[in-house]
Amino acid sequence: MTRLRGAATAAAVVLTLAATLAPAQAAEPVADRAPTGCVQPASAGAAAKGGRAEVQDHRDVSAAEQRAIEERTADILRAKGAAASRTASVSVPVYVHVMAAADGTGDVTDKQIRDQIAVLNTTFAGRESSAAADTGFTFTLAGVDRFYNDKWHIDQQSNQYRRLTRQGGADALNIWLVEFAYLGIATFPWDYGSSGDIDGIRVLWSSLPGGTETNYNLGETATHEAGHWFGLFHVFQGGCKESQGGDGVADTPAQSVATNGCPEGQDSCPSEGLDSIHNYMDYSYDSCYNQFSLGQSTRMSEMWAAYRA
Ligand SMILES: [Zn+2]
Repeated sequence: MTRLRGAATAAAVVLTLAATLAPAQAAEPVADRAPTGCVQPASAGAAAKGGRAEVQDHRDVSAAEQRAIEERTADILRAKGAAASRTASVSVPVYVHVMAAADGTGDVTDKQIRDQIAVLNTTFAGRESSAAADTGFTFTLAGVDRFYNDKWHIDQQSNQYRRLTRQGGADALNIWLVEFAYLGIATFPWDYGSSGDIDGIRVLWSSLPGGTETNYNLGETATHEAGHWFGLFHVFQGGCKESQGGDGVADTPAQSVATNGCPEGQDSCPSEGLDSIHNYMDYSYDSCYNQFSLGQSTRMSEMWAAYRA
């Protein structure tokens, strides 16, 4: 039933045991990039894919919780003496887990995986726009494993399969490629301490470069989810009330809508500055994305120093 390739034989044995335990569902620290229909998938049908809803499948981070996270992060950085440290260059090992169906659906090619890593390197280096920040993070493919399991393919038993297959430490980016109602879901770095065994990002397999997800098949969903994994919120976090938290980044103007498409000139809040529709942490089309801001780059470096270095 569960066919495996690569280095996962032991995991299959463990799964057989774990499946009988019905472990309690942990509260999952996630943030998503959600296509339309993730709340009403049955009625939305095939047309659901490709749009972007304002709904979010994540444990909502309230303004109060956000403040607590920021304070805790500042405390950690002070204790580490790293508050002012700017990450010069960090190489992130990437483990890609292909969660295909038994019939091979979702079995992306090695070339697609290489191209996905290249997109991560391009986007985090700021090479898509002169306005983009070079974050200093680079990505190296450290391993690929492939599973042919119908349940895992549709993201069932996700806590189990992540625990069984995750590799590396806090600094390793694990990417699970699955089929689900989202483009992607990510864990945050400040939750690594309590949930490190499921740390990483889940990405819709058809969003990889060359995939079939119209408007979202240039591989930049993985960039968006990795942004969360490095500690970024959406640019529309907190709506127009930046003073109550916002996205914790000063150079992304207040924004009250999750962007769909690429509406040049969109300005959803009265405060100064157009919406960051080209920012990887919005919900725009892949072709519209071209940048992280300098403030986001700094935040990622700080989060890295606090939780992943
Ligand atoms: Zn997101």
